[in-house]
Amino acid sequence: MKNCDQFRELIEAYALGALDPEERAALEAHLATGCSDCAKAVEEARWLVSQLAYAAPEVAPSDILKGRLMQTVRAEAQSQSKPHVMPAKSAIPFWLWAAVAALVVFSIYSTWNTRQLQNEIREANDRAATLLNERQKTEEQLAAAKREAMILMDPSSVKIASAGHDAQGLQLEAKWNSQLGVVVMGDKIPMPSPHHVLQLWFIPKDPKAKPMPSMMTWPDANGKLVMLVSNPPESMDDTKALAITEEPEGGSPGPTTTPRWVGGVS
Ligand SMILES: [Zn+2]
Repeated sequence: MKNCDQFRELIEAYALGALDPEERAALEAHLATGCSDCAKAVEEARWLVSQLAYAAPEVAPSDILKGRLMQTVRAEAQSQSKPHVMPAKSAIPFWLWAAVAALVVFSIYSTWNTRQLQNEIREANDRAATLLNERQKTEEQLAAAKREAMILMDPSSVKIASAGHDAQGLQLEAKWNSQLGVVVMGDKIPMPSPHHVLQLWFIPKDPKAKPMPSMMTWPDANGKLVMLVSNPPESMDDTKALAITEEPEGGSPGPTTTPRWVGGVS
């Protein structure tokens, strides 16, 4: 049935009533020969058209059908835009317009569906990234808390006593473990001024050496302050004292204010 192939792409348009007279006559002549394959194809195409008219979005019209519809609609629009040519009777039956409307609905639906899907994928990715981030943070916090606990409990840790007796100063406790690092902690610590931070300093024994900047932080909402320095910039033996000053956000290379706390190391 070789000559059936030439009719196949006409059949959907035939079902839509969108064939030109010659094509239509040729197809009908072929159908009149009793070709059951083409008759079946016409039946299927009519079913598809009826589904399109009901705007069922799960029915995807073929590209040939889409092209044919658009061609028909364009031709119709052109003939109507010529004011002197009176279109005798619209070549496009009502149900074809319904099919076009369904096609448009289908296109909008699938575009919307794709966007929706892309949004959902993006949101899922964001959620996964947030979870990973939070998990990483939690693990880091856990590791820091463990180290803090070890420094505080290890009998070889050295307690850093507050050097001053200033009632205005911060009430802090510090411990230094030569293996694990330094922990400075305290409660009821007031927030530094806006855009300022509490910065820790290591003050060397060498009178010519400058204080070495270390970590910066803020007390939490409950006024709890914890500083953990895993790798102090100076050894315990070479350090005279620890100090905390209030510095502009981002920290300073050297202290710019009077220390709020000083702890004597040795
Ligand atoms: Zn045939």
